[in-house]
Amino acid sequence: MAVSAEALRELHRIHCQLTDLRERLERGPRQIQARQLNVAKLTTAQSAAHETVQKTRMAADQKQLELKSSEGRIEDWKTKLNSCNSNKEYQTLLEQIAAAEMAGSVLADEILEALERIDQLEVAASLADKLLASGQEELEKCRRAVAQEAEVAGRDIERLEIDLATAESGLPADFQGDYRRVIRSKGADGMAEVERQVCQGCGQQITLNMQNNLMLEKLVFCASCGCLLYLSERIES
Ligand SMILES: [Zn+2]
Repeated sequence: MAVSAEALRELHRIHCQLTDLRERLERGPRQIQARQLNVAKLTTAQSAAHETVQKTRMAADQKQLELKSSEGRIEDWKTKLNSCNSNKEYQTLLEQIAAAEMAGSVLADEILEALERIDQLEVAASLADKLLASGQEELEKCRRAVAQEAEVAGRDIERLEIDLATAESGLPADFQGDYRRVIRSKGADGMAEVERQVCQGCGQQITLNMQNNLMLEKLVFCASCGCLLYLSERIES
C-alpha cells in the first residue's frame, strides 16, 4: 500500500512539534534550578557581607572602649601629678602619660580607619542585599513563566497527541511496523524530508531508484542514516 508524502510530512511535523514541546517542558525545571543556585550563592554572599560589617563594627567598638578607658587612666594620672612627692615620681608619671597618649592617638587613628572601612562595607552589604532581592525576583519570575509555559505546552501536547493518533491511524497496515520501529528508536529524528534528492536528515544523496520509489509513494529509508523519507513539498509540486 502507498502512503502520500503529504501524510508523512504531516506526521513528521507533529513529531517535531511534540519533541520541541517536550524539550521545552524539560528545560523549565532546569531554568528554575539554575536560578535557585544563583539565589543560594547570593544569599551566602549577602550573609558574609553583613557578618563582615558586624565583625568590623565590634572590633571598632572594642577599640573605642579601650581608648575611653585609657583616656580615663590618663586623667587619673594627670590628677596625681599634683600630689607627687618627688620630682622623679613626677617625671615617671609624665612619661607614663606621654606613652599612653601616644598609644591613644594610634588607637584613635585605627578607630577612624575602621569607621571608614565600615562605611565601605555597608555599601557592599547593601549592594549584596539588592543583588539577592533581584535574584529572588528573577527566580519568582522564572517560576511563573515556567508554570505558564508548562500549562500551554501541556495543552498543545494533548492536542498534538490526538492529531498524531489520527494521522497514524491513517497509515496503511503494512507500513505501521516500520514506521513505529523508526519512531521508537529515533523519535522525530527518525523521519526526514528529501529535497533535490538529498536526505535532509544526514545530507547524503539518495539513489535515483529511491527517488522513484518515493514518487510511487513507497516506503523508503535513507541508506545512510536510516530515516524514513518523504518528498519535500517543493519537489512534489
Ligand atoms: Zn539520511
